[in-house]
Amino acid sequence: MASGKTGPDSERLNRLVAEARRDRERRENTYREQALKIYPWVCGRCAREFTRATVQQLTVHHKDGNHDNNPRDGSNWELLCVYCHDNEHSRQLEHDAQGAPAPGSAHDPPATHKPFADLEALLRNKGKREP
Ligand SMILES: [Zn+2]
Ligand SMILES: [Zn+2]
Repeated sequence: MASGKTGPDSERLNRLVAEARRDRERRENTYREQALKIYPWVCGRCAREFTRATVQQLTVHHKDGNHDNNPRDGSNWELLCVYCHDNEHSRQLEHDAQGAPAPGSAHDPPATHKPFADLEALLRNKGKREP
């Protein structure tokens, strides 16, 4: 931060962020309602059934992971209970993480490493080559 002042720019930004969030919530409510209208209230994984009293634990999963892809026929939606939805996304995260090196994979040399082994060999070879 150069000066730390909060001017009209940050107010404008805050407003934009708030509007974007409202937009997103409105859109999510819309596709959720639509999905609940066209699909039976059953989790697509564990087949748990939901009622008006428990339906808030039923979530709309986007099959392609794109929350902006909301075809009206529901072909990108899947109703999952919160638990199965969590599972689904943690599996995707694991999948995404596979390309990156795991932390700690660049390991230190083992404790049995002999620092002078190479030197010994070097000296032996050198000795052979001496006339
Ligand atoms: Zn489930
Ligand atoms: Zn999802």
